[in-house]
Amino acid sequence: MRFSILTLNPGFFRGALDEGMIRIAREKGLLEVALVPIRDFTDDRYGTTDDYPYGGGAGMVMKAQPILRAYESVRRETPGKPPRTLVTSPQGRTLTQRWARELAEEPEIAVLCGRYKGIDERVIPLLGAEEISIGDYVLSGGEPAAIVILDALARLIPGVLGDAESAEADSFSEPLLDAPVYTRPEDIESRRVPDVLLSGDHERIRIWRRREALRRTWLKRPDLLLGRKLSDEDQSLLDEIKKEEGR
Ligand code: SAH
Repeated sequence: MRFSILTLNPGFFRGALDEGMIRIAREKGLLEVALVPIRDFTDDRYGTTDDYPYGGGAGMVMKAQPILRAYESVRRETPGKPPRTLVTSPQGRTLTQRWARELAEEPEIAVLCGRYKGIDERVIPLLGAEEISIGDYVLSGGEPAAIVILDALARLIPGVLGDAESAEADSFSEPLLDAPVYTRPEDIESRRVPDVLLSGDHERIRIWRRREALRRTWLKRPDLLLGRKLSDEDQSLLDEIKKEEGR
């Protein structure tokens, strides 16, 4: 995947691209990240990227032309089918695991990071872009959103995770929270790791993990279970959980 980030603050990404899963994906040659500094595409000697809003009011608006030129440079790099183009915005469709999985299949994505009061509205149709939000709160810029999106996608690009891990990741194709995890030591201030995890009995462990995943989902995010068709095993585990939790 080629992932282009159009930004006024390329420095924001220093470090982030060289750590964790993004780094692994890049090192494996499965992900190429291109930082496109919008300021390089201004047409005056001051490098103006923002201007006053029509109609007045406080704050500045990102100008369209430098963005359109920056985008053209992305297009020149990889002619052919246009990239899947995303504009970060609190008004966008919220990123979900399901959407991330779909986006991870794209060969090319371009993400535009806003700043100030936002971006001249005409940019969205002109780029044929979709607005994308990372949640119901307002950031001061799209850069943290772009890195969130990239991180979520990088681990889903086919081949980035090893087979075992990606098989595991597949089980999250269903929206269930993960079971709790523990590592050594067995005892920390009298808080012990659940015995079953030390039993070596893989089937018991599997069922325990499934039960705890269901329990957490039911307790913390019951909305994820609403209207969902459960397997017979899941349903009987959930019935047990409800009894245990006295509800
Ligand atoms: N006035 C705008 C918000 C501007 S915030 C409005 O209310 O819609 C400045 C920039 O931060 C935005 O252009 C966008 O790129 C980014 N941003 C803010 N919140 C975001 C969110 N929840 N998800 C993704 N991007 C966000």
